[in-house]
Amino acid sequence: MKKGMVIKMELKIGYIPGDGIGPEIIKEAKKVLDAVMKQYGHVAVYKELVLGGASIDAFGIPLTEETIREAKSSDAVLMGSIGGDASTSPWYQLPPSLRPEAGLLGIRKALNLFANLRPAVLYEELAESCPLKQEIIQDGFDIMIMRELTGGLYFGERKTSVENGIRTAVDTLTYNEEEIRRIAIRAFDIAGKRNKKVTSVDKANVLDSSRLWRSVVDEVAATYPEIRCEHMLVDNCAMQLVRNPGQFDVILTENMFGDILSDEASMVTGSIGMLASASLNDSKFGLYEPSHGSAPDIAGMDIANPIATILSAAMMLRFSFDLDLEAQTIENAVKAVLKAGFRTKDIMSEGKTLVSCSEMGTILAQTIETIAMEVTI
Ligand code: NAD
Repeated sequence: MKKGMVIKMELKIGYIPGDGIGPEIIKEAKKVLDAVMKQYGHVAVYKELVLGGASIDAFGIPLTEETIREAKSSDAVLMGSIGGDASTSPWYQLPPSLRPEAGLLGIRKALNLFANLRPAVLYEELAESCPLKQEIIQDGFDIMIMRELTGGLYFGERKTSVENGIRTAVDTLTYNEEEIRRIAIRAFDIAGKRNKKVTSVDKANVLDSSRLWRSVVDEVAATYPEIRCEHMLVDNCAMQLVRNPGQFDVILTENMFGDILSDEASMVTGSIGMLASASLNDSKFGLYEPSHGSAPDIAGMDIANPIATILSAAMMLRFSFDLDLEAQTIENAVKAVLKAGFRTKDIMSEGKTLVSCSEMGTILAQTIETIAMEVTI
């Protein structure tokens, strides 16, 4: 594509440095974003937002109305990570509703983020980090797990009581067809940008909510004839993820199944510092953040891996701004830099070149300039 043919955009991006390694990894993600913006002629207008422990320190609460307002007026929000060491940080002396994590749950709720996307990608260059045998991983895998985030068991009515002297607890799992349809539509749209296959995961042999899930997914599937749709029981899916992960493209599932399966899939890749995530609502807005936490054990040491955050920024360009080429440029740069042998400490192996967090960001930004030049010539 010729450089002059690219439509120039102004991107209103809120960013949350957060706690622990958050400020370090966000700085590198912005460095990489700026390189992409420059190469493709877009302009990013950033607004810093405060959340989590940083917000407790500044305002006494983990989430302020100001942060919610600023997030809502942004096109998308990119976040580092929030939270501290629960055994040493004073934040954890506070009641649960005032701790850093309450800020994260609060902002997800305020922004109505119902679709959680967690890619689990095994890079050829990091295959040795994968705990599975080579004959199972073959050419690697690239899975997108789509988890429903605001319904199901975690949000249903619950109670604990004593009945006839016996302690009894009840949780309820409720979904209505609208909640299922909106995330199914998102999953089929996203599969259309990938390998055009959706595996919907449920427990339809037992649960009514799963039987409704399956029938609504079938209705949506009928409107996407170009996308292959299959159904899989959740117990089988848990097995298939370690038996043949290459068979999956998009996995669509409800809240609790997605919670468990997305952690299983990410562990199969073996590299926590490489895993991005996104949470979307029914507009183009999304909150993008690495899957890992704030890693207080390595905060301030310039050794964290910024790639999960940088890949989250690529997801932001793709899903909130429809800038697929720009997103692909970041993803290609990550592959090129891994291929060239650069590694942060967490993914270091013999014979490779150890780099710091900030060096990794700089190398990626420089690589983007080269890659982008190749596609614009
Ligand atoms: P963690 O993911 O922060 O760290 C687990 C281990 O992985 C640590 O040894 C850490 O050093 C390492 N690690 C994580 N990210 C890394 C990176 N980018 N580069 C190199 N190494 C990395 O999990 P934890 O220690 O259980 O949690 C720490 C804090 O993070 C807690 O307060 C927790 O509540 C919070 N947390 C926040 C989020 C979020 O912001 N969405 C998610 C999970 C945990």
